[in-house]
Amino acid sequence: ALQCGIVGLPNVGKSTLFNALSNAKAEAANFPFCTIEPNVGVIQVPDERLKILEGLVNPQKVLPTVIEFVDIAGLVKGASKGEGLGNKFLANIREVDAIVHVIRCFNDENIVHVDGKVDPVTDKFVIDTELQLKDLESVEKKIVKNAKVAKSGDAKAKKEVAILERFKEALENGHNARAVDVEPEELEAVSDLHLLTIKPVIYLANVDEDSIAEGNQYVEQLKEAVKEEDAQVLTVCAALESQIAEIDEEDEREMFLAEYGLTESGLNRLIKASYALLDLITYFTAGVTEVRAWTIRKGWKAPQAAGVIHTDFERGFIKAEVIKLDDYQQYKTEAGCKEAGKISIEGKDYVVQDGDIMHFRFNV
Ligand code: GDP
Repeated sequence: ALQCGIVGLPNVGKSTLFNALSNAKAEAANFPFCTIEPNVGVIQVPDERLKILEGLVNPQKVLPTVIEFVDIAGLVKGASKGEGLGNKFLANIREVDAIVHVIRCFNDENIVHVDGKVDPVTDKFVIDTELQLKDLESVEKKIVKNAKVAKSGDAKAKKEVAILERFKEALENGHNARAVDVEPEELEAVSDLHLLTIKPVIYLANVDEDSIAEGNQYVEQLKEAVKEEDAQVLTVCAALESQIAEIDEEDEREMFLAEYGLTESGLNRLIKASYALLDLITYFTAGVTEVRAWTIRKGWKAPQAAGVIHTDFERGFIKAEVIKLDDYQQYKTEAGCKEAGKISIEGKDYVVQDGDIMHFRFNV
């Protein structure tokens, strides 16, 4: 599964958030949250469409799709120079697919702030800087290496150096690698570096209970600071989320949320936003034994999508039968859809769409 790393300064609420995720009551009991390692958890992606399909198909089980969250504690100022356990934590970040950057936007005299005062913009700056310094190191190393090759007349290396120089300049000026305006094919020059600041990011403003619905001045400051970044700021109260996660009954949970002017838990919003951030979409398989959601990247064609279920499906792919959820709802059964001419037969070039209900035909 794809992984989101939870990062931020100490005492901003990362563990609280991670624990809330760990305790979140699963919608379908078949696939409860499980902790793989102390700091890695698997969580179901909430999806209303599964409920609709469940109602129509009445399967023995329902399997939502999942993503993993990793609690990456211990980032402090100086981490890129090996301060604290800096290098270890930075290495952990290198392995994740996306970053959830938690930023303290709550006042609480009892909880020490590492720098003595709540200042979301500076906090974000401190973390960004550490990640950027580490990236700068990687980029500079590769420039030196490539420059040697370029000298001997290697055109590709020369071209790469030019691209790398652009990343270097941006990083030196306090920008993240993801902000560098490059053509998709130019990204190849840095893809082997697994840059930390090129990974997609969500900023999570951790506020107190009173600020969930309306936000507060810290959230405003943070939003202002990231407005050029094309990144989402989610306002969540981690402390409250742990309480919400403890509630078993869905009705009770909804009532609890309503008291705070919310219709959906912050965790749900976070999970969905992370999924979208990773450019992931879902297709479904629907049979009486199981209704299941499968995760693929946007733009994948039918054989590749089939490969998520089993590599044989991809290798032996013949065709796919596709039903749209709306049609399934209208005609109730697969047979009904067939009769109405609502099952389309697609070949290997079909680009799977979010929400497609797929049935693959393949040779073994
Ligand atoms: P971490 O170091 O980033 O993992 O931070 P923790 O999750 O351990 O949180 C640090 C302290 O802040 C703990 O005492 C939490 O109970 C508290 N805390 C976390 N989130 C909130 C919040 O939303 N509001 C308030 N008032 N306290 C919080």
